Amino acid sequence: MLPFLRADLANLNAYQPHPPIPEPYDQLDTNESPIDLPAEIKAALAQHYQQTIAANRYPDGGHRNLKQAIAGYVSESGAGATADHISVGNGSDELIRSLLIATAINNGAILVASPTFSMYGILAQTLGIPVIDVGRTDDFRVNLDMAQTAIQENAIRVVFMVHPNSPTANALSQAEIDWLRQLPQDVLVVIDEAYFEFSQQTLVADSLNRSNWVVLRTFSKAFRLAAHRVGYAVAQPELIEALEKVRLPYNLPSFSQAAALTALSYRPALLAALEITMAERQTMTHWLRSQPALSPWPSAANFIYCRLSHKGLAQFGLEQAEGLHHIFTTLRQQGTLIRLTGGGLRISLGTPEENQRTRTNLENILG
Ligand SMILES: *Cc1c(COP(=O)(O)O)cnc(C)c1O
Repeated sequence: MLPFLRADLANLNAYQPHPPIPEPYDQLDTNESPIDLPAEIKAALAQHYQQTIAANRYPDGGHRNLKQAIAGYVSESGAGATADHISVGNGSDELIRSLLIATAINNGAILVASPTFSMYGILAQTLGIPVIDVGRTDDFRVNLDMAQTAIQENAIRVVFMVHPNSPTANALSQAEIDWLRQLPQDVLVVIDEAYFEFSQQTLVADSLNRSNWVVLRTFSKAFRLAAHRVGYAVAQPELIEALEKVRLPYNLPSFSQAAALTALSYRPALLAALEITMAERQTMTHWLRSQPALSPWPSAANFIYCRLSHKGLAQFGLEQAEGLHHIFTTLRQQGTLIRLTGGGLRISLGTPEENQRTRTNLENILG
């Protein structure tokens, strides 16, 4: 190891987006939209680039227009957000890191409940921030007794919750929301609503009304802009100012800002495709439930989580982990890439054709 590096980096691995896979394949492992931007919107964006972006100039580092447009969109689902309630990041990943920098470096630990989005823990580790994982019950509810004890016994600065959770696809319950609302003022509550458009459930009103709440959202999923890396935070102005202090000055390229603005201006057309995903979610859930070997959970997002049932385990004569690995690798050989994570399979909903191939391939494996 290089002698000038921090010793704890030896325990971290660089993020590996994809294992090697045979081409062509159905990419159902990252919860993106399966549909590219319509050609009409790409053309509008290209025209915007040619006419208004000066490539020799730095981007607008204040993101004024974008913040205003986002505030308008957010206000459709919660009362009265203005540009002062918004901070934008190079993906919500950047905002997660900014939140960690602003709260917990040399100042305490964070609380997560696995299985959940791995990036909170990974980014915390790179910043030397301790991670306390309270886990979940069998039905993927946060272990609230453990969480309450953790809050009492540690200097927890941030609680990270995904609503609905990834990989398990369940939205926060009323009991979980009540617990979050009674947390002390010196604990920041982060509600990651990356899948808001699929769940239509939001706690953005809390982020506007409570000084220790923030909602994160992204353009990477329902808005089909994963390539452009745009996420945003909704919170009271004081927290937004802190995020603006710790971020890089030109964190969002001009072209990405233009892409997000364009997507927002075409949002009825873009979000109309949600209906296809919702219908596919129903079809896929129904089909997975009809498979005796599988045990799927209900989904409020654009992916479905499942494990092997008792019957499935008996059929394969394998332990859960081995059985899931067998399904995962066999599907991959057949050209369907899903995620094996948190002791289960997370299957992103693709196009109707992709989802049909997933069912056919699974049928081949399950018999
Ligand atoms: C996909 C996802 C994000 C989005 O991250 P970006 O950096 O905006 O692409 C954030 N949180 C969760 C839980 C996600 O699943």
